[in-house]
Amino acid sequence: MKAVAVFPGKREVRVIDDAPEPQLQSPTQVKVRTHEVGVCGTDKDIVSFTYGSPPPGLDYLILGHECLGEVIEVGSAVKGVQKGDLVVPRVRRPCPHAICTACRGGHPDYCLTGDFTERGIKEAHGFCSEYFVEDVAYVHRVPSELRQIAVLTEPLTIAQKGLRQLGHIQERLPWRPAPGRAVVLGGGPVGLLGMLALIRRGFATTVYSHKRAPNPKEAIAGAVGAPYLSTQDVSAQELVRRVGAADVIYEATGVAKATVDVLGALAPNGVLILTGVPSHGEELTVDGAALLKQLVLHNQVVSGTVNAAALDFDMALEDLSHFRATWPGAVERLLTGRHPPEAFVDVVSGKVSGGIKNVISFR
Ligand code: BGC
Repeated sequence: MKAVAVFPGKREVRVIDDAPEPQLQSPTQVKVRTHEVGVCGTDKDIVSFTYGSPPPGLDYLILGHECLGEVIEVGSAVKGVQKGDLVVPRVRRPCPHAICTACRGGHPDYCLTGDFTERGIKEAHGFCSEYFVEDVAYVHRVPSELRQIAVLTEPLTIAQKGLRQLGHIQERLPWRPAPGRAVVLGGGPVGLLGMLALIRRGFATTVYSHKRAPNPKEAIAGAVGAPYLSTQDVSAQELVRRVGAADVIYEATGVAKATVDVLGALAPNGVLILTGVPSHGEELTVDGAALLKQLVLHNQVVSGTVNAAALDFDMALEDLSHFRATWPGAVERLLTGRHPPEAFVDVVSGKVSGGIKNVISFR
């Protein structure tokens, strides 16, 4: 079958036509025909050979971890999913160690050992191929009305997990805080999907991103009523003057300087949620004492978040339905390009189309 693969040893990324077509190996598996695969910053790191690794014993890794597909075959013990259903798969699979409370409890997103695998990223093939096989426990059924946007489920789960953790963190407060103000740092897909999730949860949300308006990201923020400010024109102090200090800063850039700079806009008892994975070294000079003083004197929390659990996928699908009903057409505007598998390298390197979220289409 056709697949997009990276060969780290040869430093090559290309379409292969002879990847073995996977077959059901257990009665609880499903076979899925891939419809669409989203391309993201993690893929960029993998094709630059700075991240990711092939399955043990193989010299290549099939890429792709943001996926929408259609079930074409089900094992005899599969329940809850049938042929013809649209599904999205989760990314991370548990480590094998008995001592890992997280993986043993169904939460590899909090794995303690680091020996988890991730499809399309770490030691397990991804979904950027005509077909894949997966245990039914790792796929989520997608309502057919979400067909056009469900490839955004996985990036939205990053926001879901971050906001779920935010809820737990704020339980520390002796009162039930109203949602308050949020600043989204970064206008990429994870940022803009986080913006929609924050607005839905009642936060007065501002997008704070590098690129100056007018641009397509600002247009989407505007369409859902979120102010958009450029980090090039507006300092953190000015941000506070214009929209008020942020009870939550949701970071989705992976850029250290921008993140440290925006900390000045965090309100007392505020929480900074970090989702961006920096892809290269970035030396910074910071007044460490002033930073720690701010965190301590204002009861602030910095919380990193990676990957997502089953409940985040369920919530993401629920959110997508809600977004679609509340802001018709807004989520669709995040999907700025659909390309054939052969275009993967040009898409991931930004040579093709630019835009917000580009996807590879197998249909
Ligand atoms: C994926 C996560 C994954 C993380 C680290 C992200 O791009 O969305 O599922 O855990 O990369 O590999």
